[in-house]
Amino acid sequence: MPGGAFGAADDVPAGDQAAVSGKTSPLRGMLVTGGCCHDYDAQKLIITEGLTKRLGAIDWTIHQYDQNKDTRATVYEDPDWADGFDFVVHNECFGDMKDPKLIGNIVAGHHKSGAAAVMVHCSMHSYRNSDAADQWRELLGVTSTFHERAKRSLPVVPTAAGRDSGLVEALGDGWKTPNGELYVIKRVWPGTTVLATAYSEEVEADQPVIWRREKDGVRVFGTTLGHHNETMRSDTWQAVVAAGTRWAVGRD
Ligand SMILES: [Zn+2]
Repeated sequence: MPGGAFGAADDVPAGDQAAVSGKTSPLRGMLVTGGCCHDYDAQKLIITEGLTKRLGAIDWTIHQYDQNKDTRATVYEDPDWADGFDFVVHNECFGDMKDPKLIGNIVAGHHKSGAAAVMVHCSMHSYRNSDAADQWRELLGVTSTFHERAKRSLPVVPTAAGRDSGLVEALGDGWKTPNGELYVIKRVWPGTTVLATAYSEEVEADQPVIWRREKDGVRVFGTTLGHHNETMRSDTWQAVVAAGTRWAVGRD
């Protein structure tokens, strides 16, 4: 940067520059992505650019892995992997990664750092064949092991708690997703508040599709919506995930 261009601000200590400009410091965000069945090259951009557009400056660190189900996301090998981050977006699909130590590190890393978690779509089916699956599911806030066979537009309806939360305002009275793959939820863990549901024609019951959870000092915002890029690109998906992330990092 050319010297002198910001001469006046140079004399102000870094911590006070934010106060002078009236801005808050950039959030530190991590995206962990990759694995089976989805277009993570595109979704990486849809998620990071969308959140930056709606939340303001975010200092992103992206860990993207290959397309296999049993891929080892090596970022989690370091017990300090989440230290210093405000939030981590999990958009990963590692259904056959079974190492309990690695999965334990993911959960412990959130608890140790306090980094919020934003859980998207196939993250809910990651690590599902591991002995440590329930550790991961407790962090997620839900247990799911399969999705509907049909891909279709999903009728998403806010719950009363969702309306009260203000986080799913973008749904209005209801939202039909452009396309979708509905996850069937077997269990909602204690501490989880379901914010919106969609009706499953295959199991003939409402399924949680958006929720939040606050437990053990970690805020989690989750949505199973997002298989298709066109769903993620929609203004509604973007607004809901931004509102959830804003809540998760305590800037709502
Ligand atoms: Zn999917």
